[in-house]
Amino acid sequence: MTTQIPPTPDPSHAWGFRTLAVHAGQAPDPGTGAIATPIVATSAFAYDDFDAGVSRFNGDAPGYVYSRFANPTVAAFERKMALLEGAPAAVGFASGMAAISASLIGLLSAGDTVACVGTLYGGTDGVMRTLLPRLGIGVRHFATVEGLQEGLPKGTRIVYVETPSNPTLEVIDLEQVGQVARRAGAISIADNTFATPYLTRPRALGIDVVVHSATKFISGHGDATGGAAVGSVELMNAIRSAGMGQLGGCLSPHEAAMLLRGLKTLPLRVQAACASAHALAHGLDRHPAVERVYYPGLGDHPGHAVAARQMRHFGSILAFDLRGGREAARHFLDRLCIVTQAVSVGDADSLACHPASTTHRGMPEAVRRANGVSDALVRMSIGIEDVQDLQADVVQALG
Ligand code: PLP
Repeated sequence: MTTQIPPTPDPSHAWGFRTLAVHAGQAPDPGTGAIATPIVATSAFAYDDFDAGVSRFNGDAPGYVYSRFANPTVAAFERKMALLEGAPAAVGFASGMAAISASLIGLLSAGDTVACVGTLYGGTDGVMRTLLPRLGIGVRHFATVEGLQEGLPKGTRIVYVETPSNPTLEVIDLEQVGQVARRAGAISIADNTFATPYLTRPRALGIDVVVHSATKFISGHGDATGGAAVGSVELMNAIRSAGMGQLGGCLSPHEAAMLLRGLKTLPLRVQAACASAHALAHGLDRHPAVERVYYPGLGDHPGHAVAARQMRHFGSILAFDLRGGREAARHFLDRLCIVTQAVSVGDADSLACHPASTTHRGMPEAVRRANGVSDALVRMSIGIEDVQDLQADVVQALG
């Protein structure tokens, strides 16, 4: 079966990020002149005759065959993601979890080991704790990169990290992770959902595969679900073949068009939201109702120095423990007016949630607490509203 890895136009590597976000991977449609990438809504693609079909299926001739394997609108999204992450290739998926599970299943075999560092999104943690062990794949968890360096198990095939992590914004040193993985002959994978390629480019720091929930900042408007894996052609072929051909988690061309639109404004949205998050984090840090703030931009955050090195800004997601436990979190969330109570992050709208009872409720309680996901923890994803309105909303909700 032919796999369609789109070519990467080299010259645009020299562009600034905002130019890349608008133009990379996209050009006016040669047939119609349409500037927005057309939505090619078809499941199958016709070929001229029997032999042409055979050649396309064998991969001897270019051309699309079936949208579960590849589609022109999805291919434009893949080209853009590859260019934004500075990689040769990318694969679009139906969701972030489809991208993550396809990357793991596509690269692992029974008997392999995955080493995870730090806290992971609850869905990813579930894959590591339940799905992979059922397939005969070992999973080891390390709290820090230093721990990983000392204890990396023999036979480790993948080192997996998420930075900043969901929900406690741990910052993992990607350069160190890449070095440890390379020395052990393992593949490094980083979930770059919270940072986006605008803030961090993990491949430039030595990471092999970058995965995304495109549902978040890449869409940016809370109206599309998607995912992506980014890396070398060889790794992307393996991930595409498992993830699309076998698991079938393909990205719809309609969603791909929404994600392409979202990407055009990614740097503008992220920059504005980061500035507001920074201001809110400082305000929360001084508020008597707040016990502890988790935000990499604060000088006393344990990952501040690494974040300053590997991120352009400190991100637009923050979390905090309220004095008064779960009840205080419930009161705060129920009183918010502008900020919407919902999971997800990276939307134009500010969102807030209680991770212990939502995104991370599936984690064993002891692990959840050890990872700092307390009953008092609130996570906020700061949107692009006026910062003074967000500050006023948070202050009134804190009572
Ligand atoms: N990775 C991170 C860091 C996330 O926060 C999420 C979802 O919240 C995912 C992956 C999964 O993405 P999706 O919901 O698009 O499957």
